[in-house]
Amino acid sequence: MNDVRIARIAHPEGVAFAAVHGEGDDLLAVEIADDPSTTPWTDPTFTGRKWPLADVRLLTPFLPPKIVCIGKNYADHAREMGSEVPENPIMFLKPNTAVIGPNAEIKLPAGSGRVDFEGELAVVVGVGGRDIPADRARSSILGYTIANDVTARDQQKADGQWTRAKGHDTFCPLGPWIETEFDPSDVAIRTELDGEVKQDSRTSLLLHDVGELIAYISAVMTLRPLDVILTGTPAGVGPMTAGQTVSVTVEGLGTLTNRVVDR
Ligand code: MG
Repeated sequence: MNDVRIARIAHPEGVAFAAVHGEGDDLLAVEIADDPSTTPWTDPTFTGRKWPLADVRLLTPFLPPKIVCIGKNYADHAREMGSEVPENPIMFLKPNTAVIGPNAEIKLPAGSGRVDFEGELAVVVGVGGRDIPADRARSSILGYTIANDVTARDQQKADGQWTRAKGHDTFCPLGPWIETEFDPSDVAIRTELDGEVKQDSRTSLLLHDVGELIAYISAVMTLRPLDVILTGTPAGVGPMTAGQTVSVTVEGLGTLTNRVVDR
């Protein structure tokens, strides 16, 4: 597949998948003819319609069948949580009902007194499969995007497991698009809250890299097309309050921005 950024957009006449072409402020959304969520992800065909990206609204790029998350995959974050660096990846799931798109609102539930951001590199599965060896993981990947593993920290501590704390609606912002040609091995990852840098790290510090994670996860559960893997967050997590804006930037992928409101 060629290098393409795949987005889902609301344009003046409806909703479509689109390839995002161009650089900097000069971005164009070029409508894709196929529905890439139901047809194999090959070279897209285009309808010929296009819009300046500024004239359309970016939506959730896709709805993942499942979201597999990895906890404590950066040593400095494991330490800030007061824990040892785990020998094996810590795996958990977020429900796909938690997914929201770029610029959508993260809604703080009334039952939590502390909701944190966790900026993360996200892998989007293409072919999928089971028992995928690490050295063949690349061929199972469609591309990469950015995620915010929003977490009700007080509920996480209270429950001893993480389903409630990480499963609230709106707690999985994804986007702004899927980048199909991307080397995840050493890029900057940064989270800003109201423009102030809170997390600033590099993916080279992942304890278990993307290939290892795909091997580890696919030894347990079959990976399906458009499943998403959240690779873990670096140090610097912290709380968000209503009215704030959180942005996660991964070098080469763009920026995922969401506003925080009370539910
Ligand atoms: Mg996380």
